[in-house]
Amino acid sequence: MAVNVGGVMVGGKHPIVVQSMTNTDTADTTSTVNQVMQLARAGSELVRVTVNTEDAAKAVPRIVDTLDKFGVHVPIIGDFHYNGHILLRKYPECARALAKYRINPGNVNIGRKTDDNFRTMIEAAIEFDKPVRIGVNWGSLDQQLLTRMMDENAASAHPLDAREVTLNAIVASGVLSAQAAESYGLSRDKIIISAKVSGVPDLIDVYRKLGAQCDYALHLGLTEAGMGAKGIVATAAALSVLLQEGIGDTIRASLTPAPNGDRTEEVLVSQQVLQSLELRSFTPQVTACPGCGRTTSVFFQELAESIQGYLRAQMPVWKGRYAGVEELKVAVMGCVVNGPGESKHANIGISLPGTFEEPVAPVYVDGRLFRTLRGDGIVQEFTDILNSYVERKYGLGEVAETAGGH
Ligand code: SF4
Repeated sequence: MAVNVGGVMVGGKHPIVVQSMTNTDTADTTSTVNQVMQLARAGSELVRVTVNTEDAAKAVPRIVDTLDKFGVHVPIIGDFHYNGHILLRKYPECARALAKYRINPGNVNIGRKTDDNFRTMIEAAIEFDKPVRIGVNWGSLDQQLLTRMMDENAASAHPLDAREVTLNAIVASGVLSAQAAESYGLSRDKIIISAKVSGVPDLIDVYRKLGAQCDYALHLGLTEAGMGAKGIVATAAALSVLLQEGIGDTIRASLTPAPNGDRTEEVLVSQQVLQSLELRSFTPQVTACPGCGRTTSVFFQELAESIQGYLRAQMPVWKGRYAGVEELKVAVMGCVVNGPGESKHANIGISLPGTFEEPVAPVYVDGRLFRTLRGDGIVQEFTDILNSYVERKYGLGEVAETAGGH
């Protein structure tokens, strides 16, 4: 079921959407606007901000207006816990400015006599014509629901183990909340569900159950993924299994940045997961060998890094000028063992000389030997060949080659 989130379609046959979340104080309009712009420029198609206080709710319309003035039209999602029903009612300009509301069913008393806060948020979504995400998180799972399901399980003839009941409760929390939202008048195409846990096997099991039990659009992410390689690998491992099975319509990588680290890393990781699975293309890819004893210099690593950085830096301009350039594949290889073979599978490939090899670097273009580079100008000459190829293959008009033939 596809959901329109501020003009970005999530679900159905639409491409899987990359989203992210700020870590600024939302009430600090300047910092939040700056970070949203960074995330959007990195490729985040939706950005979530926490709306936890009255000052944050007051800041939301200013944030959206300022972004608009800068020409950044990324939909902004409000993340609500505990007091969302109060903030959405008290600050209608906030409710109107947001593109979607995230509701955590673990802290809105869903299904109880006192579930007015959940109902109020759903009514606000209906009034302002906004979608919601029912965002279950096992760290704040509805304990009353879990206890009831544990009791029912204990009384059953064939009780499941506690892990299985907990995963079932996470799924039930999302599905029952979505059904409650529908019963209050919100249409199905306004509902997205997520059910996040922090363990990879648990996440895979939860989303398989969720995918089998409902056809709501699904927001996929490993919660509290962690820092550095651990966070990236765990996120990629969990999301890859599910995305390969067709489960998940929008993704977020919940990475913990290093102190003063770059928040946009979570966007690049999400993009790389989708591009590695060949589900979407965002930026040209560099294939590089790991290096071994055959190449003892770091030159090829430096070249691979500089080409990857160069391609990424060009993309803001290239993507507007060269349609399809995000599909470009470049190979940078350390020696001739696998270099020419790998290069032939890329659009452009270069094999640098390994230790004791002749100091030449054959360049392949579309599978054919194009030129052999020598000397100190290899990096610049290779970049020139790359630029020329991009212009020729993805540019609108015929452009004379700046690089010569064989
Ligand atoms: S391509 Fe050459 S340098 Fe790179 S890993 Fe293979 S053998 Fe080693």
